[in-house]
Amino acid sequence: MNPYYRRARFLSSAARLHQAPPDHGFEVAFAGRSNAGKSSALNALCDQRALAKTSKTPGRTRLLNFFVLDHQRRLVDLPGYGFAKVPEGTRREGQSLMEGYLSQRHSLQGLMLVMDCRHPLVEFDRQMLEWNAHHQLPTRILLTKSDKLKRGAASATLLRVRRELSRYGDMVSVQLFSSLKKLGIDDAHAQLDGWLRLGEEA
Ligand code: GDP
Repeated sequence: MNPYYRRARFLSSAARLHQAPPDHGFEVAFAGRSNAGKSSALNALCDQRALAKTSKTPGRTRLLNFFVLDHQRRLVDLPGYGFAKVPEGTRREGQSLMEGYLSQRHSLQGLMLVMDCRHPLVEFDRQMLEWNAHHQLPTRILLTKSDKLKRGAASATLLRVRRELSRYGDMVSVQLFSSLKKLGIDDAHAQLDGWLRLGEEA
């Protein structure tokens, strides 16, 4: 466990792009269908119980939530997609906020796309991957809740998803993850370290 990520602290929420913190340094965003396990993954990666709880408080679920690691580095929790009960207008607003963020944010280095390993590559996941490829945004897929599958089934899912996404080449990578069993943490940290230029002078 890399202790560096333990220092993550909630910084601010943004309902509009101009409310985001200054766009310098390095940022990695987390996206995924609601209930996929995004908050749990953020908490597990930062070794904190309730870090991403902030993003779940009513009124904050449609916002961009920023967590600071140091003066140059941040993690960003994007609105979970697929809320059945959200009215169309609100859903569109959330989507345009996310699209604006993803297309305009200079400090954004990569995206962690969280999927429940039992239901990977839902329609919106696929749209997101197409969009990322178009914008050349490197993406790591976390196939989380891997503790819910037997080892053989988890490996088979990993291979299937990898094979399906091979057309994206190096832009998209895939790994198994479990927040509950703390599996895949080192692998995900290594990806974060690279995107956040940890170990390099920022
Ligand atoms: P979010 O809506 O994407 O932020 O999802 P949450 O992190 O709130 O997780 C949704 C549900 O899945 C919760 O009941 C979590 O306890 C559960 N969950 C999340 N990650 C894991 C995991 O790695 N293993 C298992 N077994 N359950 C998980």
